[in-house]
Amino acid sequence: MNLILLGAQGSGKGTLAKNISRDFGLVQISTGDLFRESIAKKEKLGLKAKEYMNRGELVPIELTLKILNERISKPDCKKGFILDGFPRSIEQAEALKEVANIDYVINVELPYEECVARLTTRRTCPNCGDIDNMTYEGYTGNCRKCGTPLFQRDDDKPEAIKTRLEVYEKTTTPLINFYSDRLFKVSSLGTPEDTYRPVKDFLSNLGRKK
Ligand code: AMP
Repeated sequence: MNLILLGAQGSGKGTLAKNISRDFGLVQISTGDLFRESIAKKEKLGLKAKEYMNRGELVPIELTLKILNERISKPDCKKGFILDGFPRSIEQAEALKEVANIDYVINVELPYEECVARLTTRRTCPNCGDIDNMTYEGYTGNCRKCGTPLFQRDDDKPEAIKTRLEVYEKTTTPLINFYSDRLFKVSSLGTPEDTYRPVKDFLSNLGRKK
């Protein structure tokens, strides 16, 4: 089974993807993470992508398709995958049709103001990529998984957040109609567990029907 997760930045898409990946054995593919890994390795592609990322803009489609296709063609993806952060435009969705079938698209819904609030207080681990939030109980400023001091990503700063959410609204939300024949909607206003529960039920029931 191949899935896409749609949802604005800060909607909790990544956390949902991790839960699905763990329980359903699907590979999580985040194009944002792939770019950040490429930057960390100082690869040409990553360094080209970085300037767009820091401004909160979309990376050009040639670079994005290159990094996605390389990942998707690895053997572990044969068992199924979840795309988190791809596609982000109709153009990308059309290109995806050429390389993969998508069974379902999960749209994670969260009001704009709440996305801004969550992104502004979001902190990331530079070592393992785990994400925490300054407002969560027990927040220490260090990674819960590996203890490394957390930092604020450049694109989680106010100017870039504004651009990212504007780009999402304009370029990515048309995908909700594009995939209307295979869409499952969920609100992420509650806790990560509240968001995951209906998605887990939906995916588990699919398995039963087969
Ligand atoms: P994310 O971690 O998903 O918020 O992605 C961080 C940044 O990576 C985005 O703001 C874009 O600059 C870039 N990026 C990630 N995925 C894509 C994509 N599918 N198309 C273009 N740019 C992307």
